[in-house]
Amino acid sequence: MLVVMQQGASEPQIQGVIDRMVELGFNVHRSTGVIHTVLGGVGGKDEFDLAVFEVMDGVKEAVRIASPYKLASRSFRPAGTVVRVGDVDIGGERVVVMAGPCAVEGRDQIFGAAEIVAAAGARVIRGGAFKPRSSPYSFQGLGEEGLRYLRDAADRYGLKVVSEVMDPSQIPLIREYADIFQVGARNMQNFILLRELGKERKPVLLKRGIAATIEELLLSAEYILSGGNYDVMLCERGIRTFETYTRNTMDISAIPVVHKLSHLPIVADPSHGTGRRDKVAPMARAALAAGADALIIEVHQDPDRAFSDGAQSLRPNQFVELMGQLRAIAPAVGRSL
Ligand code: PEP
Ligand code: MN
Repeated sequence: MLVVMQQGASEPQIQGVIDRMVELGFNVHRSTGVIHTVLGGVGGKDEFDLAVFEVMDGVKEAVRIASPYKLASRSFRPAGTVVRVGDVDIGGERVVVMAGPCAVEGRDQIFGAAEIVAAAGARVIRGGAFKPRSSPYSFQGLGEEGLRYLRDAADRYGLKVVSEVMDPSQIPLIREYADIFQVGARNMQNFILLRELGKERKPVLLKRGIAATIEELLLSAEYILSGGNYDVMLCERGIRTFETYTRNTMDISAIPVVHKLSHLPIVADPSHGTGRRDKVAPMARAALAAGADALIIEVHQDPDRAFSDGAQSLRPNQFVELMGQLRAIAPAVGRSL
């Protein structure tokens, strides 16, 4: 249920509604918009009369939310969410590019990558220190050592850090070094992890599972939001279909669909979305044109020798060229880069 307060509703009026919602068994989540304050009530009884709220002072309207996700729904924050990562805003007019290797492989590699992507205009460096690999024999990541390289390189080149968390036990370590927790496709429905991230006060980049519907993605986001962490970004990274030419099928349509259904920013990952280097730039351009708020792109100085995902990693010159194209496209869709 949502209670939309009137423009200019007073703090005591808002508090009165919150108290009544609590009395009726709801957990209350407050969204203070520029014009309206919206109070989201979750977990209360299904059977109650909306009129209880409609007649209260300062209330504009009370509505039942039909969708199974409440806090992730667009009606909770009609103007959209801007996730703030220091001085980097994700979900605003300026599109943010996150770039870097699939995995942190060493100090020189990460410092080199950070220099390249920062010079090209990226604002966040990516790199896994804990890698979810399909095979237990593949490179599993450098762990804390990798996180330290990422942090140092990011600080040196004025970047933020996004890195994957695979298990609740890794949260304290990753919190210390990264600015954004990445939840990988394989963990989109790791509900214990999602609940723990709901207690954090650091942004989360939640990737769509390889066979997940958009509704399932939004429900996974709801786990984090319902814990009180509202800084969630969703990520389209390709889904598994019958097509085998590409590694995954990049669902560009998920971008406008998510924007309509949810207030959360959406990030596009054309690297995992296609799995092939030569398809990354076209899909990145399409994602920007379709309204993506950010892009996350794998870049490697020597992709043929990359420990993971070399086939989909752009070479530095390809990334620089792509950034030029994105800069040209952005104004056509009312954005900048
Ligand atoms: C990654 O970002 O390198 C990664 C493992 O992504 P995904 O979870 O989308 O496969
Ligand atoms: Mn990867």
